[in-house]
Amino acid sequence: MGKLSLLAPGESAIAIENKAALGKFVIVCEHASHLIPPSLGDLGLDASARSSHIAWDPGALELARYLSSSLDAVLYYQRFSRLVYDCNRPPEAVSAIVGKSEIYDVPGNQSMPEADRLTRINEIYLPFRDGLSEILASRKAQGRGTMLVTVHSFTPVYFGKKREVEIGILHDSDTTLADAILAEFEGADRKYVVMRNQPYGPADGVTHTLVEHGIANGIPNVMIEVRNDLLVAADDQAAVGSYLSRLIGKAASTVKAGQTVS
Ligand SMILES: [Zn+2]
Repeated sequence: MGKLSLLAPGESAIAIENKAALGKFVIVCEHASHLIPPSLGDLGLDASARSSHIAWDPGALELARYLSSSLDAVLYYQRFSRLVYDCNRPPEAVSAIVGKSEIYDVPGNQSMPEADRLTRINEIYLPFRDGLSEILASRKAQGRGTMLVTVHSFTPVYFGKKREVEIGILHDSDTTLADAILAEFEGADRKYVVMRNQPYGPADGVTHTLVEHGIANGIPNVMIEVRNDLLVAADDQAAVGSYLSRLIGKAASTVKAGQTVS
């Protein structure tokens, strides 16, 4: 028999900050937290695995907050670990609830009863998806143009291999906002190694939020991936944040904010 409830009564899977922001950006952080609901115990992981990059994107929420503040943007994020449910994956994806992540087994996610899988979808993914849809629909109803920016971090070493890219500008079939940001980067000081669709791209299944909420609604969209060793100290977070907010802000002035399906 599966668990009937994952979260405590009244507890929300999602959080919104800077709700009254006037800017055109909506900033989303799907991997903001490594929190596991107590009802799931430790998923069979030790403390170091539970706080490692497999559980969340270290530094991403702080960077997203910096961007939310500097771009006067709404910030929307998931309050629980992606090991509970990865909100950047649709329910049908095997990677939505991983039994193994990089080199770590996740015992609590292996051989899960279907009822438990459905509970995670119902209590984590659907509220996240619907909450973001509501924000976008409400902006559309107010006639406000919107651009969608999702913020992530990635580990410097993956499967033992060091990654040279420092900031990835990722997109799916709508390249408009990513192209504009990369064009601004060409003219900016090359403080960071910035690349298109690195260290991941659409083929890795990482553009779900962009497709579901950006492309489907005709909203310009981009996913920002920052190497997490650049987001450890507060002043490093601010340095990356100020660099990115300048690029994104300038790029956005060359792109028409979307609000409707064309
Ligand atoms: Zn991420």
